[in-house]
Amino acid sequence: MSVFESNLNTAKSFLQPFQDNITGHYINGEMIVPQGSKTYDNTTPTDNTSLGQVVEGSAEDVNAACEAARAAFADWRDMPGAERKKLLNHFADKIVERAEEIALVESMDCGQPIRFMQQAAIRGAANFRFFADKSPEARNGQALHQEAHTNYTLRTPIGPVAVITPWNTPFMLSTWKIAPALAAGCTVVHKPAELSPLTAMILAEISGDAGIPAGVWNTVNGFGEVAGKALTEHPAIKAVALVGDTVTGSHIMRQGAATLKRMHLELGGKNPVLVFDDADFERALDAVVFMIYSLNGQRCTSSSRLLIQNGIRERFIAALEERVKALRVGHPLDPDTEVGPLIHTGHCEKVMSYMDAAREDGATIAVGGTRREDLGAGNYVSPTLFTAADNSMRIAREEIFGPVLTAIGFDTEDEAVQIANDTPYGLSAYVWTGDTGRAMRLANRVETGMLWVNSENYRNLPSPFGGVKMSGIGRDGGDYSFDFYMETKNVCIAHDTHKVPVLGR
Ligand code: NAD
Repeated sequence: MSVFESNLNTAKSFLQPFQDNITGHYINGEMIVPQGSKTYDNTTPTDNTSLGQVVEGSAEDVNAACEAARAAFADWRDMPGAERKKLLNHFADKIVERAEEIALVESMDCGQPIRFMQQAAIRGAANFRFFADKSPEARNGQALHQEAHTNYTLRTPIGPVAVITPWNTPFMLSTWKIAPALAAGCTVVHKPAELSPLTAMILAEISGDAGIPAGVWNTVNGFGEVAGKALTEHPAIKAVALVGDTVTGSHIMRQGAATLKRMHLELGGKNPVLVFDDADFERALDAVVFMIYSLNGQRCTSSSRLLIQNGIRERFIAALEERVKALRVGHPLDPDTEVGPLIHTGHCEKVMSYMDAAREDGATIAVGGTRREDLGAGNYVSPTLFTAADNSMRIAREEIFGPVLTAIGFDTEDEAVQIANDTPYGLSAYVWTGDTGRAMRLANRVETGMLWVNSENYRNLPSPFGGVKMSGIGRDGGDYSFDFYMETKNVCIAHDTHKVPVLGR
């Protein structure tokens, strides 16, 4: 039996419970399907057949989850950090025990190739361990001395929080948000994306097995407009962490305004990779290919605009064309697959609509541009490269979120900066150059939340992650996450040496 066939068989056994039972919610420590719930069909992008029925969470379901999170908050907040650390590390062990299941289910549910998803559980567990270890010190603030007073700050968890996640790498992103929230002492209501709910339910199940107390972690399935909206409007919820589309970010800000919720928004991008004539040609080529065609191009930090200096443009594009043509598109459980099917038929149509937009706006489709119908009924698209493009075209301005790269030439450093910044977004940017001074200048000038020099996206958990402009508000990572999930209280103590103002004596 090939590895692919064996993966398919194992995935089938892991998916069977989702086909035999309705997937409901995890509220107050219990898996529940509320009486009379409406359900929807959750499909696999591999062939658009059903993986089972999922409950469409109602405002009442959301209310039950938020009230559970509210009731569980005081005990969780007051648990000593060292105990929380133990529990969260235990949680991470349990994730690792189910790594194969998480990888296979995630691949089938969202179409991401198994070669990338194999690490999903391990990275999820690492997120938990990292924040578990910080838990005992989370309350520690700063000492701020003055002549006659000493100030110090304490941090306290903000309260129950909402975590709303997208479908592109759902497992990893959920752990990324929920681990710091729990480590800070917050309770959580998680609303996973409706298109990829399965691994979130495995995660909820693990939280129970790991001994996370009832109500501390709750998961409500359903659609953004109903369950998501009710969650962002609920008075028990003090903060909302969203990873999603920019338009969703604006909706959520409006929805949370009446209850003055703190917002952390990680949104879309149209990220540039700037490749200069003096770059290491082969390493830059590897990174350019990896950063748009891995994860099916459904990655917020994908470098979807290649800005290539005209001195090497012809040679670089020729090499790129060969690499893009050679990418292996196929079933996500095939270990050889590099590009899998897109999440949903609707998203696939959206990506395909940019092939027409490219032609209409005058770009060249140098590679790809077609559906891969030869691969069956799944949402397969051939990896695509647009050339002869400029930055005014829709393919250079709008987030396509597929295996689709737009290449644009430039002559000078100034022109590269101007094109890089000519976008409403500002999540990530990548610079390839052999000139350190230029890298330093660009780090100052490119409008972005994160910039990598001579590297693909390489995540360091203590470093801040997030965007500027329409790509978001706030940062994740290390202490930045605690700044979001915690309140800072200042305590000011006099040295009894200053003069207290006297009135009425
Ligand atoms: P989406 O915005 O459609 O959905 C994200 C989540 O928001 C889902 O759970 C959805 O149900 C919920 N939602 C939608 N409308 C809502 C509303 N009115 N109120 C409350 N919740 C609502 O995004 P998607 O299509 O699932 O994911 C792709 C997007 O996510 C892309 O734009 C991508 O760039 C972005 N993303 C950003 C980052 C980052 O770190 N910046 C990371 C991954 C993905």
